[in-house]
Amino acid sequence: MQPGGRRFDPCTLPLKTEHGAPLRNSLPSLQRLYERYGEQAVESQLSALERHGSAVDDPNLWLEAALAGGFKFMPIEHVHRCPCGSTETTLLARFVFWNLLGIRECDRCRLLFVSPRLTQEAMRSVFAEHYFDYADLKVWGERRRAVFADVLQLLKSRGVVKVFDVGAAFGHFVKYAQERGLQAAGSDISAKAVNVGREKLGVDLYTGALADLSLPEESVDAVVSLDTFYYVADPRADLEAMRRLVKPGGVIVLRLRNSLWSRLLARVAGFRTINRSALPAPHLWGFTPQSISHLLEVSGWRVEECQPGAYSISAFGPVQSAAIAFNRFARRGWRGAPILTRSFNVVATRVK
Ligand SMILES: [Zn+2]
Repeated sequence: MQPGGRRFDPCTLPLKTEHGAPLRNSLPSLQRLYERYGEQAVESQLSALERHGSAVDDPNLWLEAALAGGFKFMPIEHVHRCPCGSTETTLLARFVFWNLLGIRECDRCRLLFVSPRLTQEAMRSVFAEHYFDYADLKVWGERRRAVFADVLQLLKSRGVVKVFDVGAAFGHFVKYAQERGLQAAGSDISAKAVNVGREKLGVDLYTGALADLSLPEESVDAVVSLDTFYYVADPRADLEAMRRLVKPGGVIVLRLRNSLWSRLLARVAGFRTINRSALPAPHLWGFTPQSISHLLEVSGWRVEECQPGAYSISAFGPVQSAAIAFNRFARRGWRGAPILTRSFNVVATRVK
């Protein structure tokens, strides 16, 4: 994100300064910054800070990060409440992703989340310009076959006939499920991905956020969301939209990155630096089996099971397959054994 950028330890920098007085008067290190980065660069970032400064909670650290990372100001916002309802949260780490962001942890449910974070509009432009690799359509689908097989098995074992994929990208899982006898459709916020998927894969895809699509309520047996749920701005609203879409007793399957290690990483010295994040950018939420289970339970779902998730195909395939087989074996013998794999699937049913 910022090649050649210096590492900073936020703990060694001055704490939050008071807004109100002219901003530059409250920044003690301007002369040093002039000498290091040149007057023009400092003044340019200072004027951005003065324009947008009300959202910046630590102007000193922000200015250091902006100069080291050379980022242009992307608008940010703060999240004051965990989706579980708690407002008691702790700042674990800071990092740069188009701006100076932070990782917080909910003191009640241990969910990790990004705050401050990029605004929804800024996230959309990041995704539109940088996320999807359109040149690699076939590989995108092929390498995820083991992931799809797991999810399909979870659906078929519960008698699912009709499934909807939220955040379907090009629709590879939709096609995979169709080819194996399910009725399947999906949606994605990227119109570009949806158009490519319709044209190249011939699948049934809708453009937009699920809540905005006005799909018939209680019309599918299951809703799945594979490696996308940590991008949504408001997880409670999305879970509610999914709940409306499935029939009573219907199923949700979420595949999520496991943030078990991220919490540890966010707390060790190496990750209290602004150049690296303990969460993969641009994730907004870091879930563990425990924190997503809590969120599902308070959102009208009953959690049935969590399982270590298969990996996409990579050079480490055999090692990863062995790791996942071992973790699954251990959990058969001991139900409380933690899920250690990089991703996991959680299955829940609609209770009301
Ligand atoms: Zn919480």
